[in-house]
Amino acid sequence: MVRKVSDILKEKERTYSFELFPPKTKRGMRKLFETANILKDLKPDWFAVTYGAGGSTREFTTDIADELQKKFGVPAMHHLTCVGHNKDELRTIIGKLKEKNICNILALRGDLPEGLSYWKPPPEELEYCYQLVDLIRSYDDFFSVGVAGFPEGHIDCPDKESDSRYLKIKIDAGGEFVITQLFFDNNDYFEYVERVRKIGVTAPIIPGILPVIDYQALLRMCRTCGATIPQRVHDIFKPLDGNAEATYEAGVEFAVKQCDELLERGAPGLHFFALNKVEPTREILNRIKHFR
Ligand SMILES: Cc1cc2nc3c(=O)[nH]c(=O)nc-3n(C[C@H](O)[C@H](O)[C@H](O)COP(=O)(O)OP(=O)(O)OC[C@H]3O[C@@H](n4cnc5c(N)ncnc54)[C@H](O)[C@@H]3O)c2cc1C
Repeated sequence: MVRKVSDILKEKERTYSFELFPPKTKRGMRKLFETANILKDLKPDWFAVTYGAGGSTREFTTDIADELQKKFGVPAMHHLTCVGHNKDELRTIIGKLKEKNICNILALRGDLPEGLSYWKPPPEELEYCYQLVDLIRSYDDFFSVGVAGFPEGHIDCPDKESDSRYLKIKIDAGGEFVITQLFFDNNDYFEYVERVRKIGVTAPIIPGILPVIDYQALLRMCRTCGATIPQRVHDIFKPLDGNAEATYEAGVEFAVKQCDELLERGAPGLHFFALNKVEPTREILNRIKHFR
């Protein structure tokens, strides 16, 4: 029986999970499973598989999640988005997940299709994550449902207080745990936890960790998701721009410090945006103080 993330979180003091994305090519797919085969030796609590809201790879998410569970016996958390689907399609996908015994879902609004800065579905369809959580919950208690959290506030949200309230709505709809957006200043994470605890969010909030391996990619990613790059992060990585080896070393060192502090100050685990690579996630875990 595949375990629910919510049950694992109740039992363990700290969880470790790795996020992978569906590749576009057969070669990428082979590499994904080679990577997962090595990462599984770190005994992750679950693998997460992203969902390309508007993209061509979204139909692979279910197959990859299914294969990961069957091949490696590790629970797979299937990301699912409102963007790109009407309710009937979502019901079909949710039914398929149940058939395949994929019981962990990260419910999301989804990234907007490229080039769009505004998106509104027809009134009868789903616009927000909490509505998708509601839909998943309308089945039965087969699924364990997680939601996304934004330590600095979501990029399109006017203020942190509204952002916290929207998180509370997602949790009240049935979200059982939160995985955060990447961040580099741990104070953002701890302040976020404090802020949402004050309004009654008790669900575990797992920090999302992005190991930096490429300065330009970091700039691009943060531009898209709205995460702040503190000056001290620029100071470390900008001078190393173009030097892959030095960036890798500095990225590992930065992440080890970040993860050590998060765990020491009470984070319930770490969720790595592993980007279909074994390293640097493996090296970071092997160097942090509290890993197993
Ligand atoms: C860990 C993690 C994994 C992710 N994986 C994927 C993925 O696989 N595929 C993908 O496409 N994207 C993914 N994303 C990105 C995510 O889909 C985007 O950040 C998206 O813009 C927000 O998703 P959400 O589920 O938080 O949306 P929502 O919570 O619905 O929020 C969307 C916007 O609406 C506002 N809002 C929320 N609730 C309300 C409300 N009740 N009333 C009014 N406004 C409201 C929010 O402030 C926000 O601006 C991921 C993000 C994270 C942090």
